[in-house]
Amino acid sequence: MTLSHRITHIIGTGGDGWGLFYKARAMVEAGQPVTELTIGEHDIRTDPSILAAMDRAARGGHTGYATIPGTDGLRDVVAARVQARTGVSTTRANVLITPGGQSGLFAAHHAVCDEGDRALFIDPYYATYPGTIRGVGAVAVPVPARAEDAFQPRAADLAAAAPGARSLLVNTPNNPTGAIYARATLDGIAQVCTDHDLWLISDEVYDTQVWEGDHLSPRALPGMADRTLVIGSMSKSHAMTGSRIGWIVGPEEAIARLAALAIHTTYGVPGFIQDAAQFALRQGIGMEQEIAAPFARRRAIALEILKRQTTIRALPPQGAMYMMLDIRQTGLSGEAFAESLLDTHMIAVMPGESFGQAPAGHIRVALTVDDARFTEAFQTLVDHATALAI
Ligand code: PMP
Repeated sequence: MTLSHRITHIIGTGGDGWGLFYKARAMVEAGQPVTELTIGEHDIRTDPSILAAMDRAARGGHTGYATIPGTDGLRDVVAARVQARTGVSTTRANVLITPGGQSGLFAAHHAVCDEGDRALFIDPYYATYPGTIRGVGAVAVPVPARAEDAFQPRAADLAAAAPGARSLLVNTPNNPTGAIYARATLDGIAQVCTDHDLWLISDEVYDTQVWEGDHLSPRALPGMADRTLVIGSMSKSHAMTGSRIGWIVGPEEAIARLAALAIHTTYGVPGFIQDAAQFALRQGIGMEQEIAAPFARRRAIALEILKRQTTIRALPPQGAMYMMLDIRQTGLSGEAFAESLLDTHMIAVMPGESFGQAPAGHIRVALTVDDARFTEAFQTLVDHATALAI
């Protein structure tokens, strides 16, 4: 029996640069001591106080079907958080609770793209982006953000791709590059969206991991609140990756339609998870800073080590939990470098090529193992690059 084009084309054909990740995982499963600096998962688990709130909610009976757009309590807390941080008037009618940011990305594209529509996204990109767009039947169109521009997309590149497109997906703070889009970049994005009548889908799941400058939500730019869907998540901010909880913030009508989509897809998010998320958000910025702090420490460790060498070039990441390293002086591709690092030193990093064309010749290092182990692995990585470059 034939399956739909939509589902059979979610995963692209050919090498997608993820072979190394699976190889490293297989080595770990076989008991080999691989240091994994690959995916974006904290080395700590969800805080016990959040788990206690989850337990209280579940034992208190919040285990039945929960209200579909999300509980009033959680939607209110999310709306208040977004309003306080962006200045944009936001109420519960602007908030849909989703099972994580990923399902929010899918739902948002489903809401704004029809079959065959062009949906823009920025390369380098988070791994699921093109598949998410293809999964709703749209055509995924990459727009490059260049290493020489510190991975900030150019308005001219966006404008060139925009005619006939329906949407633009951006992510700031950015995975994989660590870039935080500057005000000028965001102004350019807003201009292109307005000129070409595009929806902006703004993935802000790293909004609590800001090391340099400020994170500005493009929904707050003039005229943008009516055409922006913001994707938020508790995964990174509260180390709740496994709880699958996030949200979409957008115009009331879009949220009402997205709630109808949720009735026909997820049927909501477990009530006890929502109560735990509400508890976590109520703890305010202190808890978020505590959870983000290890990444700032390891970023500083990496920058210190990089000062003592000349082979690797790196832009200090402005946000998120990764570093993008330019290893072109080794003469290897990102993929070949990552392979040799894994084979020689049992350290796994992601080849830049897994995140698009723009980061070829780069590797992405996740700052996700404890400080001592990170220091040792990062120094070994740098020494490996230095030896290759000689
Ligand atoms: N967007 C980006 C940029 C991400 O890196 C991730 C997770 N790594 C997600 C969205 C999805 O996160 P979740 O579904 O866990 O909220």
